[in-house]
Amino acid sequence: TSIGLLQGDKLIKQVADRLTAVLDPSLTLARLGGDEFALLIPGHLCGNNPIFYIKRVVADIQQEFESVFVLDDAEVNMTTSIGVSIFPNHGTKADQLMRCADTALNRVKISGRNSALIFDHLMDDITSDQLNIESELVAAISNRELVVFYQPVYHTQHHSISGFEALVRWQSPVRGLVPPDQFIPIAEQNGLIRQLDFYVLEQALIKAEEWRQQGVLKGRIAVNISSINFQQADFVEQVSQLVNKVNGDCNFIELELTETAMMKGADLVSKNIDSLKNMGFSIALDDFGTGYSSLLHLRQFNIDKVKIDRSFTKEIELSTQDRNITSVIIQLANALSIEVVAEGVENETQAYILHVMGCFLLQGYLVSRPLPEAQLMMFLEK
Ligand code: C2E
Ligand code: CA
Ligand code: CA
Ligand code: CA
Repeated sequence: TSIGLLQGDKLIKQVADRLTAVLDPSLTLARLGGDEFALLIPGHLCGNNPIFYIKRVVADIQQEFESVFVLDDAEVNMTTSIGVSIFPNHGTKADQLMRCADTALNRVKISGRNSALIFDHLMDDITSDQLNIESELVAAISNRELVVFYQPVYHTQHHSISGFEALVRWQSPVRGLVPPDQFIPIAEQNGLIRQLDFYVLEQALIKAEEWRQQGVLKGRIAVNISSINFQQADFVEQVSQLVNKVNGDCNFIELELTETAMMKGADLVSKNIDSLKNMGFSIALDDFGTGYSSLLHLRQFNIDKVKIDRSFTKEIELSTQDRNITSVIIQLANALSIEVVAEGVENETQAYILHVMGCFLLQGYLVSRPLPEAQLMMFLEK
């Protein structure tokens, strides 16, 4: 079992006590180190249906750690990630069985934690590839293999480009150009996301200044900020240090946050947003409509712009329901004087529908794909 969020011996001790209390005393429990435990279930307890028995044990453990508990007056939230291997199916030696359980555990972590998986031979490759990515990524950051592409946003009333979104790619010497979906989730799990987002922000600050001097900057450059970073207590401080370091101007940058970022303590979120806005940044709510309590966030926080998620625009010309939802979002944004951008606009019909509905900012392949800087400059000259 791996317990997320908090370390500390006191906590581990409590976890061990609770595991002991919930488990059949004939099972063997050992601490592996860190927040990981190993549990040995003897075959004779399982009867003729080991899977059934294992699932019951797993369910008992998950249930035990489901609820928030209190440690030194602080509320502790835990997730349990569990990997299972079975003798003799997955090995006959202890180290083989441990390795398989660990592979299954890694799979649980990669796919979002708080769950349990029994080892499967198909897991081997995928997991080791994920782990390779993880170690290559560390090198990628110091070797400057991360490149930033820029996707222009078009204003249908002004007939001009009104901003850009910075989107990271990994130019790997062995893998080629890797899209962010393949490494951002991994970077979010191992903490590299901090360096990654700050690298992209630094690039955006530098490019904004360069482009401004060349007279090609239109609007702001938007930078994606992982909720993991935004929720760090020192996020604003870190941003401000970076801005000073590169002598950047926040007035040319927009920070894109997702609704997950809004979920931790309304007071802190609203304080951070206000501080960032005071520095000159504008704030956009990304993937709008996909999280829950979207409306609440608009009322609670000082947000400048919402970005309608591509899942709504994708079939807007085909689906009445998607059209209705999109229309409500646009009206709401307009009523609150919040700017609204539609993402993933691929054809003229979609652009027309959105324009008629009152959404004038469009981002998508119809305007342009995300481009490396040199190509972007050619695009802007056209
Ligand atoms: P996102 O922030 O929602 O970015 C929009 C994604 O939609 C981009 O994918 C973009 O290339 C893609 N896209 C734009 N127009 C179209 C279109 O017309 N059709 C289709 N099918 N797709 C379109 P990309 O670049 O692969 O990025 C994926 C996600 O990775 C981003 O989604 C964002 O969540 C994340 N990401 C990218 N760069 C960064 C970064 O620097 N930091 C963080 N934390 N996340 C990033
Ligand atoms: Ca752990
Ligand atoms: Ca975005
Ligand atoms: Ca988005």
